[in-house]
Amino acid sequence: MKKGRVFSGARPTGRQHIGNYLGAIQNYVALQDDYECVYCVVDLHALTTLTHTEELKSNTLEMVLDWLAAGMDPEKSIIFVQSQVPQVTELHTILSMVTPMGWLTRLPTFKERVRMQPDNVNYGLLGYPVLMAADITLYKADTVPVGEDQAPHLEFTREIVRRFNHHFGPTLVEPRIKLTAFPRVMGLDGVNKMSKSLGNHIELASPPEEMEQRVMTMVTDPQRRYRSDPGRPEVCNVFTFHGFFSPEQVQEIERDCRKAEIGCVDCKRTLARNLSARLAPFRERRAELGSDPKLVWDILADGASRATAIAEGTMAEVKARVGLP
Ligand code: ATP
Ligand code: MG
Repeated sequence: MKKGRVFSGARPTGRQHIGNYLGAIQNYVALQDDYECVYCVVDLHALTTLTHTEELKSNTLEMVLDWLAAGMDPEKSIIFVQSQVPQVTELHTILSMVTPMGWLTRLPTFKERVRMQPDNVNYGLLGYPVLMAADITLYKADTVPVGEDQAPHLEFTREIVRRFNHHFGPTLVEPRIKLTAFPRVMGLDGVNKMSKSLGNHIELASPPEEMEQRVMTMVTDPQRRYRSDPGRPEVCNVFTFHGFFSPEQVQEIERDCRKAEIGCVDCKRTLARNLSARLAPFRERRAELGSDPKLVWDILADGASRATAIAEGTMAEVKARVGLP
């Protein structure tokens, strides 16, 4: 007997990075045994910001290879592409009718996008959270593993569900957010969330040399200007990473950093080495899977048909509640 249903998704805008893994994918994998899991490549969401849409297909392949290599298992979970189950757009339209405009314009994520792409403030960008609410509620998910940046969208989904159910009677499920111990991984710059679109990320699939190059650019304690200055691990992003990737050395690193017995360059080299070693089995599995892309498309086609069966059931119920013939 499963404990409930999980839904989550990611935009196919590039390969997955360490932030995606620590904030979301590790939960995707961990929840597979106890929950019915539905994981979605949200390609329609990617259209809100992408100008090079010809990359959607290759990005989808790259992302699903990352997911499978990280341990997401199509035998246990439904893995599919959003646009291949079009019922979500129908539910999006219906939910948009119970969505006050003000709820959308006040969302911090919308305001940030407007700042980032002032020349492309399209309607889809405003409606993004409504489409996300449709993604989650179409599959009646009660648990949504995502990073902390998605918390406002989750709260929005809960409000929409309450509003819909109040108007039309209990139909949709109010989901709860599920965070990991690393809900907001900072980027290489140390000030922004690690994001594909900001380019401040390290891809899980990077070869060791590239990984080392990226790690060496990480910002450390800004007050530590000379090798002899004592460091403050509590404000250092590199140290935070050691917490996950260097569990056996982390105490020693903390002590040596505070006493200026190691410099930031050594500290980063150690991190790059540990990170690469930890991801070696991942890179191997990914290379194996990548040799047969047809396998990935077959998994996604099967996922779409399993997802459609759930989506059709929800839509029949929603339409009856709303009064559509
Ligand atoms: P983009 O810049 O294109 O929005 P992204 O790097 O933010 O990409 P998404 O595909 O939007 O990645 O996010 C996929 C999942 O990973 C979401 O659940 C999101 O909350 C989570 N996530 C993304 N970045 C981080 C991060 N830095 N720390 C923790 N979780 C993250
Ligand atoms: Mg994002």
